[in-house]
Amino acid sequence: MLLEKMWGGLLGLAAGDALGVPVEFLPRMELKRHPVTDMRGWGTHDQPPGTWSDDTGMALASLDSLAGGFDPENMMRCFARWRKGAYWPYGEAFDVGAATDQAISRFSSGVPALLCGGRGERDNGNGSLMRMLPIACYLYLRQGTPVFRNGSALVVIQASALTHAHPRAQVACLIYVGVVCALLAGRGIRSAMQEGVLDAVSACLDTELEPELEHYALLADTDAFCALPTAAIPSSGYVVDTLQAALYCLGNARSFSDCVLAAVNLGEDTDTVAAVAGSLAGIAWGERGIPAAWRMLLPRRGDMEQLLRAFYCRNITKK
Ligand SMILES: [Mg+2]
Repeated sequence: MLLEKMWGGLLGLAAGDALGVPVEFLPRMELKRHPVTDMRGWGTHDQPPGTWSDDTGMALASLDSLAGGFDPENMMRCFARWRKGAYWPYGEAFDVGAATDQAISRFSSGVPALLCGGRGERDNGNGSLMRMLPIACYLYLRQGTPVFRNGSALVVIQASALTHAHPRAQVACLIYVGVVCALLAGRGIRSAMQEGVLDAVSACLDTELEPELEHYALLADTDAFCALPTAAIPSSGYVVDTLQAALYCLGNARSFSDCVLAAVNLGEDTDTVAAVAGSLAGIAWGERGIPAAWRMLLPRRGDMEQLLRAFYCRNITKK
């Protein structure tokens, strides 16, 4: 049952990612005129329908690494392999974020993994948030919910720091992991959002992350947040925007496709917003909630399943 939820999350991540890839960077106005309603392909990166990108690939690299437990140096080695073409649909990298690229270059030149991520205010892109699903699954297997007991917040903070070490990006990852774990525990969507946010907030209190919470103030009341007009929800690659846009689509969705199509059609960083939203919706609605026609188009489904199974078997027994 738990493995099925995680599989739904991983497929949902890839499906959301793939729906967004052909229209990445398109403005919201343009997508209002020609909304995405199905897997399109081509477009921005000229890839065939179903092609997922860095969001899914880095999650797969993380999953592979986490089969041996959380080891920052090993995870960075997997990211360096990913940068060279491993964990991509067709063995070739086509969309690598600048902050992530710089962090991997630092690692390759000998910098310790935990010191590789950028720490500046401008390093707050969504590049660590987009790959957090495996970290959340790993912590849920060890910890259950509420997740941030006994130092598990530190795993999230360090996992983000590999590429994104600013506390604002780390808070986004904590909130996301909190929501994933509440969904894995079987909570309904709005309760999972509320519980996950509160759990993350309490993990931040009295730490250096606390001052960053003000950037996420809108999320404090889930129902009020979901009732905001869409115009109040930006969908750029800024980590605060991406997290909030994904949660907004999740909180207002009636089905998996409803959620990811709403996310894609917000425009801007379409693939990552939809990947983050899709990972959450995939847990909530499961594999069967994802249209079969979309699932069939996703490349390397067999490899994805194998990586998840290996990760799950290695970590479930270590509880
Ligand atoms: Mg991408």
